[in-house]
Amino acid sequence: AADRTPLSQRSPEELHAFLEEQRAAYAALEGRGLRLDLTRGKPSAEQLDLSERLLSLPDGHLDGRGVDVRNYGGLEGLAELREIFAELLGVEVDQIVAGGNASLAMMHEVLVWHLLHGGVDSPRPWKDEDEVTFVCPVPGYDRHYTMLESYGIRMVTVPMLEDGPDVDAVEEIVRDDPSVKGMWIVPTYANPAGSVVTQEVAARLAAMPTAAPDFRLFWDNAYAIHHLTSEEVKSADIVALSSSAGNPHRPVVFASTSKVTFAGSGVAFLAGSRETVGWYLGHLKFASIGPDKVNHLRHVQFFGSADGVREHMVAHREVLAPKFEAVQEALEAGLGGLGVARWTTPRGGYFVSLDVPDGCAARVVALAKQAGIALTPAGASFPYGEDPRDRNIRLAPSFPVLDEVRTAMAGVATCVALAAAEQLVG
Ligand code: PLP
Repeated sequence: AADRTPLSQRSPEELHAFLEEQRAAYAALEGRGLRLDLTRGKPSAEQLDLSERLLSLPDGHLDGRGVDVRNYGGLEGLAELREIFAELLGVEVDQIVAGGNASLAMMHEVLVWHLLHGGVDSPRPWKDEDEVTFVCPVPGYDRHYTMLESYGIRMVTVPMLEDGPDVDAVEEIVRDDPSVKGMWIVPTYANPAGSVVTQEVAARLAAMPTAAPDFRLFWDNAYAIHHLTSEEVKSADIVALSSSAGNPHRPVVFASTSKVTFAGSGVAFLAGSRETVGWYLGHLKFASIGPDKVNHLRHVQFFGSADGVREHMVAHREVLAPKFEAVQEALEAGLGGLGVARWTTPRGGYFVSLDVPDGCAARVVALAKQAGIALTPAGASFPYGEDPRDRNIRLAPSFPVLDEVRTAMAGVATCVALAAAEQLVG
C-alpha cells in the first residue's frame, strides 16, 4: 500500500522519492491520451432522459382552472405550478412567480430594476448612489460575480463556511457601510462549497441591522431539492424569518427546474414578500405579456404535485450519488493522509470543492489539462476569477458517465500530488 505519511513530515530524500513517483504516475497518465471533462455543472443525458415524457406534454391546452395556456396573459405564471413550488420553497402561493426558463435572468432583472428604479423600500435607484457594494461569499458561483462586474458593482468577499457565510463578517460589513445594498447567497448545497445555511445563520442574516435601508439578500436556492442522500436537508425559511425580524422585503428567493427537468427548458421561480412580488410584476409588465404557460402546464402534468417533484428528485439522486461517491473514493485513494488537500463531501447539489496547497490550484488545472482532463479554471469561484490563495478547484462530476468520473478523478489526484510535491521540493 502507498505510504500515507503526511508530506510535511517527510525527509528531503523521501520527498524527492515521492516527487519521482508522482512524475512517473503523471507520465503514465499523459500516455493514456484521455479526453475527459469535469468543468460542467450540468445534468447528464441519463438525467435528462428522466424527463423525456415532457416532450409529449401537455395533454390538451387547458389548466385545471380552464385557462387556455396557448394564449397571452397570466404574468405571474400558472397557478397550479406556483402551488407546487410554493410548497417546495415554503412560501404562500401569492408570494411566488413562475417565469421563463432561467432563474439567472430573474436575478438579472431584479438587480437591474434595483439599479434603474430602486426596490420596494429604496430611497432612490441604486444607480444614483455613489457606490453599490455586494457581499459575496467565496468560493461561490461565477455568474453571480460576472453579473455584478458587468454593472461595475463592488464586491466584498466573506468566507463560505459549512453552515453558510461567515455571518460575523457579514454583520460587520453591512452594519456601517450604506453602499452595501445586497448579498448573494446559495443557501442549500451551495455552488461549489456544498454548504447549507443553518436556521441560526439564516435568522441572523434576516435580522442583522444594515446601514442601507433597502438591503437585499439574493437568495439563490438553485439546489433546494437536489439531495444526494436520503437526509433531504430542508432550506431555512428566509421569507418568514425576515418578515418576523421586521425586514420583510430583504430576501428575494430564486429557484428553477433547470436541474430537475431540462436545463434549457425548465421553469424559473421568484419568491418574496407580497410587495416584492408586486414590485417585480410591476416592472415585468413593461417587458412581457406573459410567460410560456404551455411549458408551465406540461410541468404541472409531469409532476402532478410537490410529492411528484420529490420522487423525481430521488431518481436524479440515484444517478448522481454514485458519481459523487466516486469522487470521494478517488480523492481518498490518491491523497488521503498526505496532508496536501481537503475536499467537501456534499449532501446535495452539483459540486465538490477541492482545496490544494496555496499557490497550487492553477498548476493542478494546467497539469490536468495537459493530461486531457478539463477542470474549471482555477479562481473561477471568486470575483474577477482571482482566488487570492490560488488553492480552490471546483469539481463537477454530474455530466460524464460514472467510469469517466472515476478515471478523471484518479487523474486529478495524481496532478494534485505532483503539484504539491513540486512545491515542497522547490
Ligand atoms: N444559481 C446557481 C447557484 C447555479 O449553480 C446555477 C447553474 O449552475 C444557476 C443559478 C442557473 O440557474 P438557471 O438555469 O435557473 O438560470
